[in-house]
Amino acid sequence: MKEILNEKLSRVPFEPGVYLMKDADGRVIYVGKARNLKKRISSYFKKPGQLDLKTGVLVKKIFTFETIITRTEKEALILESNLIKRHRPRYNVILKDDKRYPSLRLDMKSPYPNLNIVRKTAKDSNMYFGPFASSHAVRQTLKIIHKTFKLRKCKTRDFHSRSRPCLNYQIEACLAPCCISVDKDTYNEIVKEVVLFLKGRTPYLINKIKKEMMWAAKAQEYEKAAILRDKIFALEKTLEKQISVTTDFMDRDVLAVARSPESSIITLFNVRGGYLLGTQHFDFAETMSTDTEMIGAFIRQYYEKIHFIPKEILVPILPEDASLLEDRLRNIKGQKVSLVFPKRGEKAHLLKMAIHNAENELKIKIASETADMDILARLQKKLKTDRIPITIECFDNSNISGTNPVAGMVVFEKGKPKKSRYRKYRIKTVAAHDDYAYMAEALKRRYGKGEQSKPFPDLLLVDGGKGQLNIALSVIKELKVKEGFEIIGIAKKNEEKGETIDKVYKPGRKNPISFGREGDLLLFLQRIRDEAHRFAISYQRKLRTKTSMRSRLDAIPGIGKKRKETILKHFGGIKKIRAATLKELSALPEMNYKAAEAVRKALNSEGYLGHP
Ligand code: SF4
Repeated sequence: MKEILNEKLSRVPFEPGVYLMKDADGRVIYVGKARNLKKRISSYFKKPGQLDLKTGVLVKKIFTFETIITRTEKEALILESNLIKRHRPRYNVILKDDKRYPSLRLDMKSPYPNLNIVRKTAKDSNMYFGPFASSHAVRQTLKIIHKTFKLRKCKTRDFHSRSRPCLNYQIEACLAPCCISVDKDTYNEIVKEVVLFLKGRTPYLINKIKKEMMWAAKAQEYEKAAILRDKIFALEKTLEKQISVTTDFMDRDVLAVARSPESSIITLFNVRGGYLLGTQHFDFAETMSTDTEMIGAFIRQYYEKIHFIPKEILVPILPEDASLLEDRLRNIKGQKVSLVFPKRGEKAHLLKMAIHNAENELKIKIASETADMDILARLQKKLKTDRIPITIECFDNSNISGTNPVAGMVVFEKGKPKKSRYRKYRIKTVAAHDDYAYMAEALKRRYGKGEQSKPFPDLLLVDGGKGQLNIALSVIKELKVKEGFEIIGIAKKNEEKGETIDKVYKPGRKNPISFGREGDLLLFLQRIRDEAHRFAISYQRKLRTKTSMRSRLDAIPGIGKKRKETILKHFGGIKKIRAATLKELSALPEMNYKAAEAVRKALNSEGYLGHP
């Protein structure tokens, strides 16, 4: 094996290109690019002891590799990114489509823009700010804006349907453009101030408002001057809370890396106008990338998605292809962007601060993973199972008196929810209300597809007592799942019988497992069960709303199957259909003015007062 790799390596040219590492099953596990293919690939196959422990372990997974020679390094960069997108290799740094970090969208399509919290940004005419470090951070910012500026606060659909201003107008927190004629220029001034604030130009904004206040005072407009003074106070208060990190008032991002053998953290500081406005941490599992490759991969992926790229990005190490990256960023931004590795002064201090934060975040991550693994190891001991329950799947049903029955499956990996693997099942084959049969159908659909059903969990947790557990056991037996996995059931305590805790049942055991002092293990299982419950219920609710929406549309004269589907597809929910204007409804394919009027009339008769 080693000889084959060495022989292959001897034929690799000293040219730029892309390499693909493959495992024994032929899966592409890593894609990289290099200015010099020979040099880069050789670096993976150094003598034992010359590689760090982590890379050594990963390199052992390389069974073979392929190379593609390119004319230039730039071509290699494009090819590498296409191949990563296609194969999504396990050991590359791939930025998840992370919805954890919310942004603010300034709805520029509306004549009176408002701000909304969004999880996804788009390349459209709206303005986006963020991403923010957390939901709490974005809500706090929104709260300050709403307290300080008279930007409208209502949702656009409510804005159109208002017949009178809301309380915000009465407390003088909004000019009420919903109902009162508000001069667009006056409102735009508010929007401009909000934009300055969100861009971190608070000191400039304060100076601007101070000047306005002086003019107002000179003109003896004392009421206006007092309002401006309060605004200045509010802004100065927020400024006090922000940390000033540089004195040159520039916008820049700062990137730092912290690594352990199992995972890596990239920390990003957003410095705007010299103030640290946000911190985000991105975690990556094992990777074969070096630090420079990690930084390069992060920059390429992150700044493709983001709406604002600062002129300067501080990095802890300059990527090999720094000038290519700068070109790419310049193309996106339309202006020069510099990657800088500062060695001294304020910027170096800032970088050090980011590195310290990345290291701290990594420590927290490792501690939490260790705690999770400890729980799993103790759970294995308590349940007396053969393997540690690294992957746990849990099922729960939901229905209302047998209508719209559904089942939901949640997955916990290494003690954490793995939402991308959650599954919903709309029960198809059970006519009568029968919880056991619902469970059996969902289990058959999950585990009865042979190879396609893989990977199987280490532990299957069913919501319910011995009845549900026996159903699960017989279904798995019937499906002849060779690999097999442990199955347990968790039943709610019966308070009428004086039970004080939930019960966990294992096959072949009459009595529930006693957790004694290890109540945290029971809590952990309850958390998984509750998550399955939440997931199944929310799916059931969604279906119920859809069904009721369909039947409401069914009852409208002139709305046939095609029109109904068009309306549902376009608006998605009854609230949005209700908020739609006649113009919007009649503009849909298959619809006309008369049909739109019929929809509006029917929905209004349900007690809704819409706008024309
Ligand atoms: S007063 Fe009108 S525009 Fe302002 S928040 Fe209330 S509903 Fe919206």
